[in-house]
Amino acid sequence: MALLRNDPAPLGTVLLLPGDGIGPEVMGEVRRIMDWFAKRQGISFETDEDLVGGTSFDRHGTPLTDTVMAKAQAADAVLFGAVGGPRYDDLPFEQKPERGLLRLRKELGLFANLRPAKVFDALVDSSSLKPELVRGLDIMILRELTGGIYFGEPRGIETLPDGQRRGINTQVYTTSEIVRVAKVGFELARQRDRRVCSVEKANVMESGVLWREEVQKLRDAEYPDVELMHMYADNCAMQLVRQPKQFDVIVTDNLFGDLLSDCAAMLTGSLGMLPSASLGAPGPDGRRKALYEPVHGSAPDIAGRGQANPIAMLQSFSMMLRYSFDQGAAADLLDQAIGRVLTGGLRTADIMQDGMARVSTSTMGEAIVRELDKAAS
Ligand code: NAD
Repeated sequence: MALLRNDPAPLGTVLLLPGDGIGPEVMGEVRRIMDWFAKRQGISFETDEDLVGGTSFDRHGTPLTDTVMAKAQAADAVLFGAVGGPRYDDLPFEQKPERGLLRLRKELGLFANLRPAKVFDALVDSSSLKPELVRGLDIMILRELTGGIYFGEPRGIETLPDGQRRGINTQVYTTSEIVRVAKVGFELARQRDRRVCSVEKANVMESGVLWREEVQKLRDAEYPDVELMHMYADNCAMQLVRQPKQFDVIVTDNLFGDLLSDCAAMLTGSLGMLPSASLGAPGPDGRRKALYEPVHGSAPDIAGRGQANPIAMLQSFSMMLRYSFDQGAAADLLDQAIGRVLTGGLRTADIMQDGMARVSTSTMGEAIVRELDKAAS
């Protein structure tokens, strides 16, 4: 039976966690866009909203309560704003706002971090690279998030018999850790240009040799339709600034992904434009645990002034539509509306350029809705 446009059946459950600083401001614009999709496209969600970070600490004495954790476990997707602020800087480690986010990532088992680096035509001049290198850029960096050297044992600082001190961290990956993140990479590539570049340092690290072998084996067995190439991490860093458009999906470990995703982020120019997704294992219904959040923090320097750029948060919502709910067409509609608003000359302060019109957070959101209206009518 066709859905009535004013009475859509929800596609699933979404938990909104706006957090601190500009988090609630940019989440407000997501709500505006969600309302539009519900009313105009019949794409709706059952939503709940709760506290995380400093606002949760203020109310409950903890950055994430067990109740909110349980809601996140039960939801099909979590939309997260940002946490933190100077008021909380002196709190003990366990009570800091960021611990709320870390707990969510850990207990939801989010092992795959997706960071797209996409350049809107209107913003090619914001990049630190020449316009011709980044015009039309659309790459995806997939970083393993829960293994590798940041978690490997043994670790620590020890004192040697001769009095010197030695710092130790261990890079360690098992086949299952490699295979599960590589699968996400191949699946992503199938929704894009069907090309994966797997990145490690197999020339000097055994964990890199294993990574390379397992990714190749998986591709040959299950994803023969996806083109796979291997690259050393140092070369990949160089290629990202030399010729970034050669990539489609880059899949790499926790440490290299940390560096390469920040490097790729700068190709796009502004922190206020960068979305991300973190995915876990598929549940019985095939849907993966998922948390979507902008890369930026709570920006206390501009919080409460209506200056925040909502686009990173809105693109995180767009990623949610695409990856959690298989609504690629709706995600495209939103991405294109954002592109047209930028082409029309509207800018929040962080991406302001000569000759453009500077607008507030909500004016940007309203303009995107107007573009959605035009596209849908
Ligand atoms: P930040 O990302 O909050 O801000 C860095 C700079 O970018 C600031 O000048 C800010 O005004 C600007 N900026 C960031 N997002 C913007 C947006 N959407 N629109 C316009 N300008 C934007 O990083 P920071 O200043 O290092 O950290 C501030 C707080 O956020 C700290 O408490 C930090 O721990 C926390 N933080 C949280 C997260 C998260 O929640 N995932 C991530 C990073 C930092």
